[in-house]
Amino acid sequence: MAASDHLSICVTCGTQYDIPYDNRPSTCRMCLEPRQFVPPSGHSWTSLEQLKATHKNEFKQDENDGRIWSIFSTPQVAIGQRAIFIQTYTHLEWAREFQCPVYLAYEDQEWLNRDDQENRRVFFKDETQNILPDVNMVKVGGHFPGSSVLHWNKNIFTGDSIGISQSGLSRSHHSKDHQVFFFHYAFPNFVPLGPTAMHTMWKRLRVWEFTAVYSLFFTTTVRGDNVKRLMLDSMQRQARHQENFGHPLLQEQLSA
Ligand SMILES: [Zn+2]
Repeated sequence: MAASDHLSICVTCGTQYDIPYDNRPSTCRMCLEPRQFVPPSGHSWTSLEQLKATHKNEFKQDENDGRIWSIFSTPQVAIGQRAIFIQTYTHLEWAREFQCPVYLAYEDQEWLNRDDQENRRVFFKDETQNILPDVNMVKVGGHFPGSSVLHWNKNIFTGDSIGISQSGLSRSHHSKDHQVFFFHYAFPNFVPLGPTAMHTMWKRLRVWEFTAVYSLFFTTTVRGDNVKRLMLDSMQRQARHQENFGHPLLQEQLSA
């Protein structure tokens, strides 16, 4: 049994705390935060030990790029987030042992809920952090000050920094007016970001080429040669609907 099997996990958001399940807290500080929510039934807790009895992890290879694997729990746990495994190059020892660092934005340290006893965390302060050749973290902010995406091989992996809409996922019936991406401070509580935050995101993303965006959930991926254009269109549409008609974000063009 792993050492973390008995630790408390919030059922609603999936955060694991350095607190044994037997002494589980009365409230989850992440769910009390304005970016999350507490369900009508109140706070509730589980542990890895309990989840292992009722859930399993599935590994699904990406249909377009076999080097990308989604890892997620079934049935869904918490908000249904996925992990993505990227095979950047063949390194069997690395793959077997996962002896890899964990890159985190310096700005978001206050949100960590586990101790780093093996000293694996690497906090990066710059807007961009190179990890491996052609693999870069890009800090876009917005949802959290340190919210970041990973860029690799014309792919953007957004984590929870950028949302993908329903119409973005069904683009066979797409019109040019449909919103593909959305940019929120609080996703479950629907607090959208304003044009200046989106403009900062765009200025950090526009230097990267990408033709696919992988979001937080297993089913949320958008591909196509025009994905970068759709990203800018979505930002500008959101700003226009906030009636920010004079904002410099609306002057941005794809080639800028
Ligand atoms: Zn929680």
